[in-house]
Amino acid sequence: MLPEPVLKRAAAEMLNCGGSGMSVMEMSHRSKDFEAILDAAEADLRGLMGIPENYHVLFLQGGGCTQFAMVPMNLMRNRAADYIVSGQWSKKAAAEARLFGRVNVVASSEEQNFSCVPSLSSLPVSPDADYVYLCQNETIHGTTIKHLPDTKGKPLVADVSSMFLSEPMDVSKYGLLFAGAQKNAGPAGVTVVIIRDDLIHDDVLSSTPTMMQYKTHADARSLYNTPPCWGIYICGLVFKWLKELGGLAAMRERNEKKAALFYNFLDNSKLFHGTVRKEDRSLMNIPFVTGEAARRERLNPTLDAKFVAEAEAVGLRNLKGHRSVGGMRASLYNAVPYEAVEKLVAFMEKFEKENA
Ligand SMILES: *Cc1c(COP(=O)(O)O)cnc(C)c1O
Repeated sequence: MLPEPVLKRAAAEMLNCGGSGMSVMEMSHRSKDFEAILDAAEADLRGLMGIPENYHVLFLQGGGCTQFAMVPMNLMRNRAADYIVSGQWSKKAAAEARLFGRVNVVASSEEQNFSCVPSLSSLPVSPDADYVYLCQNETIHGTTIKHLPDTKGKPLVADVSSMFLSEPMDVSKYGLLFAGAQKNAGPAGVTVVIIRDDLIHDDVLSSTPTMMQYKTHADARSLYNTPPCWGIYICGLVFKWLKELGGLAAMRERNEKKAALFYNFLDNSKLFHGTVRKEDRSLMNIPFVTGEAARRERLNPTLDAKFVAEAEAVGLRNLKGHRSVGGMRASLYNAVPYEAVEKLVAFMEKFEKENA
């Protein structure tokens, strides 16, 4: 979901953006008009997240999945890296990194069906690892790593796609973080990479294409080739919307309030159950089922499907769980208003009565 004020402004500016007489999609990416849009987006993001001076902000293409390859191509100079596998996105990232070098899985919750975050205390960081990788919010399973591990001096690389801008974050704790914009910041097609100076190398893995090198984009300030102009423009409007709301601390407060309403209902429901260990639950993605989550034989896919269909019919959309795990998932991203969660909970109460 995108904020309605952002969509309205984009609609109003469709034929004449910033007095240019044209839409962003028609501008030259080297024009003064677009440069102003790019500069403002970067400055606003830096302000919102408190990004230190020694970090670059890159607006790239290819989505989160392209970062699964770009990270090892640029950083795996010893051909070794440590991966924390807490769900399908980090598992995919680890598999991709294996194309380039040795991947040590230093913690995993796969045996628990990714219903929790693995223990990250005293992580066995490998002496030759080029970096330690994690996915901080596993979108499909609804878990969040709430305490970053001690990486024993190794750069921490984090996929924050589905929690980007949902709460304040100390950027200085990371070597690199990235987010596909389409979960919480804008449309599909733009990926934000925030990378510390010293991780931008000339001597990346041999045969790394020019377009896949962070240095290419850092040197050209995201204008090496035509950037995803429309996506950057919408992200820029979302950044301004966040600033007006009071920034990321205010956003976290709103998100905590929404999630508390939903979790409180789930915890007291006799029909619906959350699937994630309490201390690891995400503020953004909340998977749930009608059966007993802990006992596979007690799951009830028929009732789940009935719920999803009836919810759709009253305008509660996109509640089906990811195809790989089934059940339901409520994604309470930044732009979802509190009132929408109230509606959902009221609908679930009604469904529970009718199907008790
Ligand atoms: C959606 C998602 C991805 C994949 O992003 P694409 O832009 O579709 O490649 C990667 N990581 C996380 C955490 C995601 O939620």
